[in-house]
Amino acid sequence: MIANVGSLGSSRTLPSISFFESYLRVGLRSLPAELGLVCQVEGESHKVLATMQSKMGSNMDMELSGLHAKIEAVCRQVMDTAAIVSSASGATLPALIATPVWVNGKVFAVLIFAARQLAATTEDQELLKLLARGIGREVERIRLEGFNEQTRRVMQDSIDLFENAFNHAFIGMALVAPNGRMLRVNRALCDLVGYSKKELLSTDFQSITHPEDLDKDLEHLNEVLQGRRNSYRMEKRYFHRNGDVVWALLSVSVIRSEDRGVRFLIAQVQDITEQKRALAEVENREDELRLANQRLEELATRDSLTGLQNRRAFDRRLEELWVQSARSGAPVSLLMLDLDHFKSYNDDYGHPAGDRALTRIAEVLHSCCRASDLAARYGGEEFAIILPDTDVVGCVALAERVRKSVENIADLRRNVTVSIGCATAFGPGREVLAGKSALVELADVATYRAKAAGRNCVIQADEPHKP
Ligand code: GH3
Ligand code: MG
Ligand code: MG
Repeated sequence: MIANVGSLGSSRTLPSISFFESYLRVGLRSLPAELGLVCQVEGESHKVLATMQSKMGSNMDMELSGLHAKIEAVCRQVMDTAAIVSSASGATLPALIATPVWVNGKVFAVLIFAARQLAATTEDQELLKLLARGIGREVERIRLEGFNEQTRRVMQDSIDLFENAFNHAFIGMALVAPNGRMLRVNRALCDLVGYSKKELLSTDFQSITHPEDLDKDLEHLNEVLQGRRNSYRMEKRYFHRNGDVVWALLSVSVIRSEDRGVRFLIAQVQDITEQKRALAEVENREDELRLANQRLEELATRDSLTGLQNRRAFDRRLEELWVQSARSGAPVSLLMLDLDHFKSYNDDYGHPAGDRALTRIAEVLHSCCRASDLAARYGGEEFAIILPDTDVVGCVALAERVRKSVENIADLRRNVTVSIGCATAFGPGREVLAGKSALVELADVATYRAKAAGRNCVIQADEPHKP
């Protein structure tokens, strides 16, 4: 069927009617034809895009309606053969000559000329083909233009989208050249570092990066430039225009050219100063808490007068060592010390002087010990020293050294001496003791024996009783 379409010139995918008419005019003028048509082929139907009658053919009006069937048949034939088709005149119908109009490799329309008498020569056919080609080219050009326009619009839409996302993003964004120069920056980034857009665009990221973070950033960037990675993320510091340090989470991704080279880097910069500050505060608090706990622990284990470990610490350490030595078999020795006639020291010089003497003696005990030993104030003027990995011989030697050192303290109101009892558990050939209390008891008894032996002496628990 042939649909007659009114004004098609306004369609953006087709040439204007006057364009078709100009081609029809040339055809009518050059061929012995009275009527020219351009019919568009769309599947099974055909639309008349333009018609024109020559002056001589103006009296064909009456017959035009009768032409429809013939025109449609010719159009179909052109479609089927994809070649020029001629149709001879009948009694009432004119002769037709029709040629396909090719657009992008398909028959897009049929160009038809009609006349009562039409014997188209080869030249006429060539002219017809030329006209059809001209029409086809124009349609192709218009379509290409439309396609380009559409592509341009899609690209513009993407650009607008990117621009919007970039400019109005809440986090700082920058388009950065491979050498670090900033090519585009958004408002959020300007706010973050306190510089204007103009100032940022005249600098590079290196200039506003904290020197301690620059190497790491450049290292990552190098890996991107060398094609070893396409993005990286790091926490880093920038300098604010006012000199403040701004902590940021930087995420960088790369835009590569077709040859895999780096065209741009897109940097997203998120201000994490507040989180960092809060974290530092928590860490500070944790440090304070750790310190306070340490102090508390010290208070709980240290004797306030002498500064030595207290009875509690003594018990804990002995328990620890007992478990270890029970497993390893390493010897553990213990000295129990009791100052001689200390009551009379107090009586003679007063309690405060007695306290000072206790403190001084504690210093001396401490100085006689190794780092792994533990000297403790066991009770009033009684002390104890735990000696890990120390056998009987070592223990007696230390006890003797302690005894002499105390005796030789020169800066007391008068010399003070100490009676020392020592005992050893574990180690080769030693009798197995029931527990740590047994060791304490052995050392304690030895101390009494030292008292009984005249004081200012050392008694080792294994020593036989003297008669
Ligand atoms: P011994 O040789 O038998 O040990 O005689 P001692 O006088 O030292 O007797 P004991 O061991 O029973 O000592 C207890 C005295 O130690 C009583 C008290 O005067 C003194 N003492 C105990 N604790 C303290 C203290 O914290 N400060 C002072 N200044 N003296 C203390
Ligand atoms: Mg005592
Ligand atoms: Mg005493």
